[in-house]
Amino acid sequence: MKIKTRRDYIESLRKLKLNLWMFGERVASPVDHPIIIPSMNAVSFTYELALDAQHEDLMTATSHLTGKKINRFTHIFQSTEDLVKKVRRQRLLGQKTACCFQRCVGMDALNSVYSTSFEIDAKHGTTYHQNLKKFLLYVQEENPVVDGAMTDPKGDRSLPPHQQEDPDMYLRVVERRPDGIVVRGAKAHQTGIANSHEILVMPTSSMAEKDKEYAVSFAVPTDAPGIVIIFGRQSCDTRKMEGSEMDVGNSVFGGHEALVVFDNVFVPHERIFMNGETEFVGMMVERFSGHHRPSYACKVGVGDVLIGATALSADYCGVSKASHVRDKLVEMTHLNETIYSSALACSTEGWATPSGAYQIDQMLANVCKHNVTRFTYDIARFAEDIAGGLMVTMPSEKDFRHPQIGHYVDKYFKGVAAVPTEKRLRILRLIENLTLGSGAVGYRTESMHGAGSPQAQRIMIARLGNFDYKKKLAKAIAKVKD
Ligand SMILES: Cc1cc2nc3c(=O)[nH]c(=O)nc-3n(C[C@H](O)[C@H](O)[C@H](O)COP(=O)(O)OP(=O)(O)OC[C@H]3O[C@@H](n4cnc5c(N)ncnc54)[C@H](O)[C@@H]3O)c2cc1C
Ligand code: SF4
Repeated sequence: MKIKTRRDYIESLRKLKLNLWMFGERVASPVDHPIIIPSMNAVSFTYELALDAQHEDLMTATSHLTGKKINRFTHIFQSTEDLVKKVRRQRLLGQKTACCFQRCVGMDALNSVYSTSFEIDAKHGTTYHQNLKKFLLYVQEENPVVDGAMTDPKGDRSLPPHQQEDPDMYLRVVERRPDGIVVRGAKAHQTGIANSHEILVMPTSSMAEKDKEYAVSFAVPTDAPGIVIIFGRQSCDTRKMEGSEMDVGNSVFGGHEALVVFDNVFVPHERIFMNGETEFVGMMVERFSGHHRPSYACKVGVGDVLIGATALSADYCGVSKASHVRDKLVEMTHLNETIYSSALACSTEGWATPSGAYQIDQMLANVCKHNVTRFTYDIARFAEDIAGGLMVTMPSEKDFRHPQIGHYVDKYFKGVAAVPTEKRLRILRLIENLTLGSGAVGYRTESMHGAGSPQAQRIMIARLGNFDYKKKLAKAIAKVKD
């Protein structure tokens, strides 16, 4: 692996010439920007932990292509054990960073494009799978971060791509050249793009023949000519520029998203993995969302941190023995472990695709993500309940440390006598970060919409629910004869 350490990783990012914009200005050096640094720290942790012997089994794997040791984020799942290890790793990284560590979308994209390109080639005699394998060999060897890009801006959601008033609302091929294609469009909400070396693009929803130009999958470097990255704002983001560690809540780690514009970007043939095969778009989308839904075991790890912070906030103000507080902590834990159970369940029920790559059980993966869309909100609600109002009304760190007024803050916001006020304030800021601040982007809204909004899971659950079979079961037991 060429990029092994945090230092290797940051140096490799420095070499990128990203066309990145934030607050109306071009960012000359993203790796040095205070709003981007916490998110870079979270990704770099996926490198650091892979070097820790204690976590080697979850963080690294053996390449099925070369037999070499690789970072598990670049691995193609070869068994149900691999799927389960992914889920465990997601929880572990969530616990250690309490944020979105960004590297999983690319991993899930690699896996779904790998298995789908194999089946496109089998039907059409194309060479997409060879292209993907070549790309994968480079990814496993160099160990870069691959951004997984599925979501188009989509314009009028009631219309398919070819009927949009602006044809660029879905990313499409605008020119075919002897050496490749030129694409135009955009991908919205791109997690970790400023910390990524490559972007792996997939279509966003099933398509018909008339959408042929939109049925395209490929990979290009994030600094390819024509790519423009417009950084997304997060709640409380500028607190990271104020120099207060306490007020940020999670001062080391964070996530980010951005709009990525493809303004006539050239893609060479060997980087194309689908090009017009509309009948395979549904398979690629379903396989990606199928893999990405249990990846939300990351939220279980973040949930562990939030439950811990909530329990501490109760300790610090003397309510930890109250029966309703104990019961709420139990309920939070039950919800969190229910998400984890469904992530593990869909992995243990995995199956081999014709390419040999393993896929999760779709029904259970959708149940898992549906749990995520609800339970994180319930957990956040309990956290806010137990934290009390101070979480949103407390003064800044500057006031707390001020020689003239600091002693008032210290005196009046003390809880139990034995615990210094600062500990209480720090924990409340962490809860604020995860439920309302920049961490809530990952813990709440990403739980709702990331890997598909709730209705996307309900559609899959309805499709896979097999109600006719269940009716037959009922008839057999009740001796109802047709
Ligand atoms: C924090 C965050 C990080 C993300 N990271 C990534 C990433 O790295 N890569 C990536 O590709 N994507 C990413 N996503 C995108 C995510 O997959 C989408 O948000 C999700 O698919 C929903 O799309 P949307 O946001 O455009 O919602 P919308 O399409 O605007 O949905 C809004 C509402 O309209 C409903 N709706 C939409 N279309 C229809 C329709 N045709 N019929 C009926 N109802 C409809 C939805 O169910 C929902 O209730 C991320 C999202 C978030 C919030
Ligand atoms: S939300 Fe979770 S699964 Fe998705 S990229 Fe972030 S950490 Fe990974």
